[in-house]
Amino acid sequence: MTEISKGRTPASALPPHDELRMLTGQLRTLLEAMHVWGVQLVPGAQLPEPSASAPSISHPSYPSEPSPAHRAADRSPSQPAASQDVQEVLIPSQQALDPLARLSFAELETVAQQCTACQLHRGRTHVVFGIGNPQAELMFVGEAPGRDEDLQGEPFVGRAGQLLTRIIEAIGMKRQDVYIANVIKCRPPNNRNPEADEIARCEPYLIRQIALVQPRLIVALGTFAAQTLLKTKLPISQLRGRFHTYQGVRVMPTFHPAFLLRNPDRKRAVWEDMQAVQRELCQPST
Ligand code: URA
Repeated sequence: MTEISKGRTPASALPPHDELRMLTGQLRTLLEAMHVWGVQLVPGAQLPEPSASAPSISHPSYPSEPSPAHRAADRSPSQPAASQDVQEVLIPSQQALDPLARLSFAELETVAQQCTACQLHRGRTHVVFGIGNPQAELMFVGEAPGRDEDLQGEPFVGRAGQLLTRIIEAIGMKRQDVYIANVIKCRPPNNRNPEADEIARCEPYLIRQIALVQPRLIVALGTFAAQTLLKTKLPISQLRGRFHTYQGVRVMPTFHPAFLLRNPDRKRAVWEDMQAVQRELCQPST
């Protein structure tokens, strides 16, 4: 995926000394994020142990305890045990806040591709990170990859995805104009519903994706996307049909395309929601 980063100075525009410092900083940020979201061992890394007096994080999206990915018992047989110059470090959950928040699209995807923060990594063929225009005005957020998405590494490519493509085209846009991501980046077994801890561990990727894309509008597809973004337990039937707000961005919840395949009589409701989205996008941006 190509990155069109917003607000970053290209390294080549800087004097060599500053360029080196910037690249070193970016590398450090990436390594920190990889620590937190899946990489357990980094040569010579020295990070503080969690402090008992450290303030707790109130953000519900972040793990409240160190990820199982950081437990030695979870180490896969192919990974070496810690040696003298390769220290195993326990990352305090507080440090999870910043690393992803500073990553570019490419860096974020690199971390996601290696993520072992929840059990879903064990069954995946591909991490389904996201696809589309990284500067899109309109972003779609779904639930989790299904079988086709897991095999191809791209969101919404199965039957529900084909319907989503038609929905996008119905408002005069193309799939490549928008950005598409899921709350969960790895396929849950047998397409079961995502569990609360899986959402909590994966949601930081989505939060960063939205911050990078800076869409004018988000369409939340189905219950999980809407409830995750809007931090509500209300059912999609009560949420859809009107705009809500996520971090200052307008959100239109609507029925999930997979639900529409089983309940075609709800297509009219989605059509009305999408017309509201189209009207909103036609307004001059403020
Ligand atoms: N359903 C989703 O929520 N996401 C996909 O990527 C595919 C089906």
